[in-house]
Amino acid sequence: MDYFVAPVAKLIEELSKLPGVGSKTAQRLAFHILDAPYEQAESLARSIVSARRNIKYCSCCYNMTDVDPCSICSSGKRDRSMLCVVEDPRDVIAMEKTREYKGLYHVLHGAISPMEDIGPEDIRIKELLSRLQDGEVQEVILATNPTIEGEATAMYISRLLKPIGIKVTRIAHGIPVGGDLEYADEVTLVKAMEGRREI
Ligand SMILES: [Zn+2]
Repeated sequence: MDYFVAPVAKLIEELSKLPGVGSKTAQRLAFHILDAPYEQAESLARSIVSARRNIKYCSCCYNMTDVDPCSICSSGKRDRSMLCVVEDPRDVIAMEKTREYKGLYHVLHGAISPMEDIGPEDIRIKELLSRLQDGEVQEVILATNPTIEGEATAMYISRLLKPIGIKVTRIAHGIPVGGDLEYADEVTLVKAMEGRREI
């Protein structure tokens, strides 16, 4: 880093904190930004700040949103009797792309993982339970990833929900084991939703 003047070194340092960006890529991006027209660099910086400042989590489903509650939670066109539980906001986008699912979502923001010291209290399970109190939701679809953590989370939630008497289903595994929901193609996701079974 000593070869670079301070502002450039700082830019490279910040860029290399991004996922998948090593120091080589960070340098390439930094020089690209510095070579670009001033307006372009400023627009990039502004959109980062604006997105970070305006995006929050929906107080109902914990999906990313710029309005609270989010457009899905406040929509009159969604089926309020179905709740699809996912790990990550990106999974909501994957589901929405299928255009098949018309229910609501609940984003856990992670999965139970004893290896990484993530327990049930570290993800939005408590919030899920409190959402189910009013009896509007008839079916909870557990669409956590088909990984060890995702399965453990699905099992944990299903055990909590059974006594409440809500139908709990798990999406079918058209999705490769160890895979991420986010990367599943739309047909596979639709099939996984259709083939869900009660647990
Ligand atoms: Zn919402």
